[in-house]
Amino acid sequence: ILSDRKNEYLKYEGNEIITWCAGCGNYSIQKALERALILEGFKTNDVLFCYDIGCNGNGSDKIASDGGYTFHGLHGRVISAAAGAAIANPKMKVIAEGGDGGTMSEGINHLVHGVRSDYPMMFILHNNENFGLTTGQASACTRKDNSMNGSPDGVISDPINCCDFVLGLDPSFVARSFSGDVKHMTDIFRAGLKHNGFAFIEVLQTCPTYNRATPKEWYMERVKHLKQVPNTIESARKVASDMEDEINLGIFYQDKKSVNYLERLVNRKNVKTTPVEEVGRFDIGPLLKQFE
Ligand code: SF4
Repeated sequence: ILSDRKNEYLKYEGNEIITWCAGCGNYSIQKALERALILEGFKTNDVLFCYDIGCNGNGSDKIASDGGYTFHGLHGRVISAAAGAAIANPKMKVIAEGGDGGTMSEGINHLVHGVRSDYPMMFILHNNENFGLTTGQASACTRKDNSMNGSPDGVISDPINCCDFVLGLDPSFVARSFSGDVKHMTDIFRAGLKHNGFAFIEVLQTCPTYNRATPKEWYMERVKHLKQVPNTIESARKVASDMEDEINLGIFYQDKKSVNYLERLVNRKNVKTTPVEEVGRFDIGPLLKQFE
């Protein structure tokens, strides 16, 4: 599909040594995202990739130095940093990525406000159902009774269903995909890139090293592609709810008429320039000297 655009594809490839485990779902997520960007016509300098701390965040090292701008922030805080960038420079496509560990625990407040504010950005939740980078501790998405490092007797709380949680926040875009299906991820990412507000996309990501309870084969027996997008939040919650037997993938909800945060700001109405352009180049040297 991308054979005639091979050179564009290679632009994203950095020379850093890859640290992800063999068979990790992060590889296919990154490839699907690159494909979606190329197919949607984005040039590398049109895009800012913001990464949370976690295995997914090491994707920051995989982007070539001229393959897009990257920001690697604090654990659980990627949405707030990305939202700031999206508001400051709306000419840039801002994509944030975080894991279920950072996003659904210490960063869950940022997710709530990202959704309710409807910031103009796309957020990809890598849900591998554990804290992989710190060697397999239970996250808020680990299934009940699973034995994990740090909870050898099994997890005793119910997991959060991420899409159902976000659907309860009056979102403008919610979707789910699977790291074992590059074409489906590419299609969903393309839809998220075109969305006007906060596009929340959960990817069920395989983690063969620490999540042995739901390997790729487990998902492949259960995932189903939704045939059509539900037209109400209530019907979306119904199709998103099952995470055990029949796991639906697709766009669960989209408000195509959503008015994003920036468009609702009264003091930015009829302003043609961006905050970044207005600030221009400012020498912060004298300011930094105060802290020497
Ligand atoms: Fe991927 Fe899991 Fe390895 Fe992290 S620990 S790189 S998520 S397979």
